[in-house]
Amino acid sequence: MVISKDVNSTIGGDINQTTATAAPPCKAQFHSYDWKGGSVALIKSSKDTRYDHNAIVTHDGDKYPCLALRDLSSFRQHIGSSAYDKLDVIGIDEAQFFEDLYDFCQRAADHDGKTIIVAGLDGDYLRRSFGSVLDIIPLADSVTKLTAQCELCGKRAYFTLRKTDETQTELIGGADVYMPVCRQHYVSGQGVIEAARMVLQQKLQCG
Ligand SMILES: [Zn+2]
Repeated sequence: MVISKDVNSTIGGDINQTTATAAPPCKAQFHSYDWKGGSVALIKSSKDTRYDHNAIVTHDGDKYPCLALRDLSSFRQHIGSSAYDKLDVIGIDEAQFFEDLYDFCQRAADHDGKTIIVAGLDGDYLRRSFGSVLDIIPLADSVTKLTAQCELCGKRAYFTLRKTDETQTELIGGADVYMPVCRQHYVSGQGVIEAARMVLQQKLQCG
């Protein structure tokens, strides 16, 4: 998703996924800016510790320096006002984890003249709106909904099936926890998972 000055939002994936798989637009957008010139900064959530904390590492092995933060409002203070003023582009990865996403994007684009590239999940594993990602669509110049490939049949995957029993919304994991699936396999997969859960509960009650 690009907010411009510009906010460009990419939903249904993250920068890792987008650079690696189905979504060249995000990668192309990032590559089109001058990384080494210091005019671009990347922010990701400090909640995700799966990868290098100070870099976004794509599946291709490309590494981009980034700041891992709990909230976006501390970004300016972190890099300092003069560094912030020089920035042209701010990339935000895993946007679903930032509660102050809307306010940050609005201010940075409208008042500070930044171009913001946002990548995040639009829905959680139950296909409910995730964080504030959908709230910033009205701010965006353009929005791209990405798809992966269904792990079971190879068709376009719009949804994520959680393979484990955990039910909290924020559960960070990779292929061990989540699986991209098409609509048909999402519906049948949810059915199987719920049936297994009911059997387990019945066993617990009987036992
Ligand atoms: Zn499928």
